[in-house]
Amino acid sequence: MTTIHTDGPESIVQTEPLDFLVVAPHPDDAELGMGGTIAKMIGQGMRVGVLDLTTGEPTPHGSESIRRAETRRASEILNLTWRGNAGLPNRELQHTLESRKLIASYFRMLRPRWVFAPYFHDAHPDHVVATELIEAARFWSKLSKTDMPGDRFHPERTFYYFCIHLRLSVRPDWIVDISDTFEQKMQSIQAYESQFVTGRPSEPPTMLDRLRTDAAHYGNLIARRYGEPFATKEPLALSSLRDVF
Ligand SMILES: [Zn+2]
Repeated sequence: MTTIHTDGPESIVQTEPLDFLVVAPHPDDAELGMGGTIAKMIGQGMRVGVLDLTTGEPTPHGSESIRRAETRRASEILNLTWRGNAGLPNRELQHTLESRKLIASYFRMLRPRWVFAPYFHDAHPDHVVATELIEAARFWSKLSKTDMPGDRFHPERTFYYFCIHLRLSVRPDWIVDISDTFEQKMQSIQAYESQFVTGRPSEPPTMLDRLRTDAAHYGNLIARRYGEPFATKEPLALSSLRDVF
């Protein structure tokens, strides 16, 4: 998988539905928030997609072509089933009826069982809008008598990953043990050299050091080496208590 789908939802060739779709305001947010879980679930045979809403550019050391190559590289490291870019405006993301319809159309074509959105409290306006947009699009994707492509479809759940620009101490609703895939997550993040390496202070703690500390903190809460936190507005359903440790 090396291609990034940029031609809009209508041109998606429908295959098997995705197990889950991570929707990210910018390329790198999915990796930062839940790269370890993505890698882990793909390793267990799940079909996982990432839809970036914008190019994430301009940034001080990036460009659209650099960021696209980095995104492709990160997608390969995670072995993603599908990756696309919705082409909405970076820094100026807005919840319009048009953008809601666009995202709902992606849901109808990709048919993810679950959708992952950024955690709803954030300082970055693009992130806050992205979450509102995803929640509304999830509702819209089940509408009938519409000109949206694909059949009506309703993702069963929306969950929230943490890629936030506030220093919050949030109690997560659950934590995934990512001890086995943490290094893969770090590699996928380092693929975004223009964002996390070039021009960044090299004095510790670097951005990468802080990510490791965060993952160790959440791992510590579940007595594992590394963990990734998640939130849910609706209660989490378990088919068996055997999965709880
Ligand atoms: Zn972002």
